[in-house]
Amino acid sequence: MSEQQQFDVVVIGAGPAGYHAAIRAAQLGLKTACIDAALGKDGQPALGGTCLRVGCIPSKALLDSSRQFWNMHHIFDQHGISFSNEKIDVGTMVGRKDKIVKQFTGGIAQLFKANKITTFYGFGQLQPGNVVVVKQHDGSTVELKGTNVIIAAGSDSIELPFAKFGEHIVDNVGALDFTEVPKRLGVIGAGVIGLELGSVWNRLGSQVTILEGLPNFLAAADGEVAKVAAREFKKQNLDIRLGCKVSNTEVKKDGVHVSYTDDKGATQELVVDKLLVAVGRRAATKNLLADGTGVKVNERGQIEVDEHCHTGVDGVWAVGDCVRGPMLAHKGFEEGIAVAELIAGLPGHVNFDTIPWVIYTEPEIAWVGKTEEQLKAEGIPYKAGSFPFAAVGRAVAMAEPAGFVKVLAHAETDTVLGMHLVGANVSELVHEGVLTMEFKGSADDLARICHAHPSLSEAVHDAAMAVHKRAIHKAN
Ligand code: FAD
Ligand code: NAD
Repeated sequence: MSEQQQFDVVVIGAGPAGYHAAIRAAQLGLKTACIDAALGKDGQPALGGTCLRVGCIPSKALLDSSRQFWNMHHIFDQHGISFSNEKIDVGTMVGRKDKIVKQFTGGIAQLFKANKITTFYGFGQLQPGNVVVVKQHDGSTVELKGTNVIIAAGSDSIELPFAKFGEHIVDNVGALDFTEVPKRLGVIGAGVIGLELGSVWNRLGSQVTILEGLPNFLAAADGEVAKVAAREFKKQNLDIRLGCKVSNTEVKKDGVHVSYTDDKGATQELVVDKLLVAVGRRAATKNLLADGTGVKVNERGQIEVDEHCHTGVDGVWAVGDCVRGPMLAHKGFEEGIAVAELIAGLPGHVNFDTIPWVIYTEPEIAWVGKTEEQLKAEGIPYKAGSFPFAAVGRAVAMAEPAGFVKVLAHAETDTVLGMHLVGANVSELVHEGVLTMEFKGSADDLARICHAHPSLSEAVHDAAMAVHKRAIHKAN
């Protein structure tokens, strides 16, 4: 092993949480190293974590490609556009996705270089005394000592014991790389990955069946939003079966046989060509910590941290998917930046109450803050105002009338407590809610802000006005 190298900050993991931490630390003048073990499809090191390699970005690339194909079949005729002999070349579509991934993972390497961050490609293990031993891909080992160490190891897919990953049973990695459209695609889990990747292949012609364990659809979302989304997915022939307990899978000549008990307790079998297992992710803390570091890992494999992402061990922090909180890239971004700023003596913080959620289906689903169900359960008095996209000129002109925006405000103070949206481009619109809540704004504030006409954002404006029964474009 070569001589120990000293840094102000050593970051383990170059995913969203880690690369934000490393870049912000370097901007603040701290001598920074970042270690990442991941390899891209070409076998070369690829920075950017799950998000850039096999998560947020590649899934959105395929969602956008498949959306174009879907529109051709289901929307174009309304515009008077006809065509013949349409087909999808899956190789070209996946190749486009790979090119985008390469552009962005390479972009992180360039940003590291520009910020003078020393990058180590290999697996890092934390030892006692803030030492990190890195087993590099070339077989060599280096030892780094950080005045501060930030652990940003991310997460891995959960594998079910009776559905081991392979050629036919896959997680997100496999489902982003099918070489042809599976005739029949089974999905276990109607969560975010199941719905997004299920939508991709459904739009391209797969017969998609999603088996969800819980009796309620999208239990974390506002009930009315989940209802509208379920109705729209049904129209798209996404077959979502709730309350299903999968007990076994078997790969046979004619496909993957999935045994499950349905919501009425009857035994069922589903036969599919490919099976996507999307039942959640687990913190990637295996082999990360040597004995005696003092860093605590809970029963879910997550690193224990306080509200400042500090582990309780002097100079050791942890951020992103490997700690508590939602497994979202932007939550990791904010934690990474906050910790770098705290290390530099600045007041870094993350407001968990204003983290937006987005599901990139058609229609999109997005929310920030509390749902009506949560407000009722917590006994918080509130007023609700909602507005349908069917009454928004721009949405109808775009042939996107499905969905609505709902604003929830405190009944006495009028402070916005939540915004829930389902419809076109709501991944962008939800930030009006984030901003209003971050500035402790009221429904009246939002209602008095001028919104461009015609635009989808008018649904937010009218929903805010509807809180006080003064929406202009609907009866109150
Ligand atoms: P990761 O992105 O998992 O990165 C951790 C990195 O650390 C990896 O590169 C890993 O190789 C490396 N590493 C781990 N251990 C070590 C070690 N010991 N030594 C060296 N390197 C190590 N979130 C959103 O907000 N929006 C989305 O649209 C979205 N879409 C998604 C779609 C899919 C299919 C999936 C799977 C996830 C999606 N997510 C999305 C979630 C998002 O990808 C994660 O929340 C985010 O990547 C977490 O960032 P992270 O930095 O904590 O961890
Ligand atoms: P998830 O937690 O969103 O959904 C998992 C679903 O599987 C749940 O509905 C759960 O009830 C169900 N489930 C669990 N065990 C089951 C079983 N044995 N049988 C049937 N159903 C079962 O998890 P995911 O979809 O795997 O995504 C993982 C993480 O990645 C999420 O936490 C999410 O935050 C993140 N992600 C985010 C986005 C986004 O922001 N757009 C996109 C993809 C992934």
